[in-house]
Amino acid sequence: MGPAMRLILIGPPGGGKGTQAKLLRKKFNLCHIATGDLLREAVKLDTPAGRLARPLVAQGGLVPDDLVNEMIAERFRRDDRPERFVMDGYPRTLAQVAAFEQVLRQQYLDLTAVLLISVDDEEIVQRLSGRRYCPKCQATYHIRHKPPRIADRCDECGAALVQREDDMEATVRRRLAVYHRNTADLLDHYRRQNLVREVDGSGAIETVFSRIENVL
Ligand code: AMP
Repeated sequence: MGPAMRLILIGPPGGGKGTQAKLLRKKFNLCHIATGDLLREAVKLDTPAGRLARPLVAQGGLVPDDLVNEMIAERFRRDDRPERFVMDGYPRTLAQVAAFEQVLRQQYLDLTAVLLISVDDEEIVQRLSGRRYCPKCQATYHIRHKPPRIADRCDECGAALVQREDDMEATVRRRLAVYHRNTADLLDHYRRQNLVREVDGSGAIETVFSRIENVL
């Protein structure tokens, strides 16, 4: 199983956090906890939390701390609570940091590291605003890096490609502003605990992953 590993990933939206979290999960057998995925799922299922979150997620704002804190606390109260994990997109605010520390304390768990994946804002805008997906079969494309054979048509099923509402440029810029505003405090906090390991998030997926392995 390897040593206990309990990580928090911090990085801009579209910075490859989710991708790297999945690789970490596989390599180190970790539980991958992504509040963005949990929230999108709640929106899709139209739960009470999902109804509250829907407009906020669509506009790139943060959903209230209490809502995500409760979602996470619930996950850690279950019998199959994670002991080795990678947090992806949580905590995002100091209030969430405080709530998460309490959850971990109750479970006698401590953090191994906070990984900061840094990527330039302009690269993020370029990456995200070019992203398209097929609403029918979920295939993903990028107008520059992975264009479909016929413009705006899915290679797999021919359906018209669409853009995720929160990937539109104006929304991406808003999400980046929110990200920078909140992470400054977060990083100060974790730097004081000497937990932050910074990794250059530019370049190929495998390159970034080996940089992560190097700092761990
Ligand atoms: P992500 O996939 O992590 O970029 O999250 C997508 C959206 O879900 C964000 O833009 C927020 O609206 C919401 N969200 C995800 N995680 C959190 C969090 N920890 N706190 C507040 N809102 C969140």
